[in-house]
Amino acid sequence: MTAEVTTAAPSTSAKKTRKRILTGDRPTAKSFHLGNYYGTLANRVKLQDEYESFFLIADYHMLTTRVADLEEIGQNIRELVTDYLSVGIDPKKSTIYLQSLIPEVTELFLYFAMLVTVPRAQRIPTLKDQMRDHNLAVPTYGLLGYPILQAADILMVKGDLVPVGRDQESHVELTREVARRFNELFGAVFPVPEALIPEGGMLPGIDGASKMGKSLGNAIFLTDDPKTVEKKIRSMYTDPNRIHPTDPGRVEGNPVFVYHDIFNPDRAEVEDLKRRYREGQVRDVEVKEKLIVAVEEFLRPIRERRARYAADPKGVDRIIEEGSERARAEARKTLHEVRSAMHLDYFGL
Ligand code: ATP
Ligand code: MG
Repeated sequence: MTAEVTTAAPSTSAKKTRKRILTGDRPTAKSFHLGNYYGTLANRVKLQDEYESFFLIADYHMLTTRVADLEEIGQNIRELVTDYLSVGIDPKKSTIYLQSLIPEVTELFLYFAMLVTVPRAQRIPTLKDQMRDHNLAVPTYGLLGYPILQAADILMVKGDLVPVGRDQESHVELTREVARRFNELFGAVFPVPEALIPEGGMLPGIDGASKMGKSLGNAIFLTDDPKTVEKKIRSMYTDPNRIHPTDPGRVEGNPVFVYHDIFNPDRAEVEDLKRRYREGQVRDVEVKEKLIVAVEEFLRPIRERRARYAADPKGVDRIIEEGSERARAEARKTLHEVRSAMHLDYFGL
């Protein structure tokens, strides 16, 4: 079976006609879960029709916390891209690219590093989170610079909009400052990008925790097989105060119904279940069994697409290479403007 791997490139016309978005992920070992889908992937799939979209695989960013632990990174990169493709990010519409194939970004990072003071970088709230999560007493120079590298990622392709979680908002704020500062000092080269923060709340975990998380042991992954999905949903937390099926149950905030609302397209079925749940006329088992069916319907096409791409790893690599070439062409153009604005083009480079 050959995968439906397409390689036709979106045109890289010199003139920017549509607004650009840039967003990305670090290639960690874990695949995406339903929360990631709900919180970000679904939105990306939608946005790619309206915006010129760049999806960055941020492998340089792995160095900030995992410099000696990168044996698996090549495989993780392929898995991440396969995840993108399987949820419907379309390489004909969007540019999927690997950060380290655009070494120009490190040059832009160097210039930007001259525009950000050390106390400003230290004030970024994610720095403390990273230090805590990775048990670091002090940050490396590289970790401190992480948001500046992100500013270089965004501005390298002249991103207008940056879809990120609320936790990354401070990085976009720094990017805006860098763009303004650069434009003030050297002339108008960069757009001042805006963060696009999703409005929906967080998807709860199957354990009822307020957030499904990759490392929290409470996630349904897009790569889970039907048996695993079924087992996870059967074990799901519901209304803890409801002991018997005849007890009236609480629907609001009940994870089983939160999932039904998001993943079950049969609205009439969901409303009927909610009514009966409130009236104590339905067993948890039935609510869960209908949810298993809905989640399976949702996951099946994703799984099928994933299998097709997984059967053609060379095709996936080609998508990464071609996307990276396109992104690199943008990067070169931007750097040319940057050097010229900074009077660093003395040898006509
Ligand atoms: P980790 O536990 O390693 O932080 P995670 O599960 O939080 O992993 P991230 O890689 O941090 O996943 O998040 C990727 C994107 O998915 C972010 O935009 C984040 O806001 C979003 N996201 C993560 N978890 C959820 C969730 N439960 N509901 C909605 N969006 C989520
Ligand atoms: Mg997270």
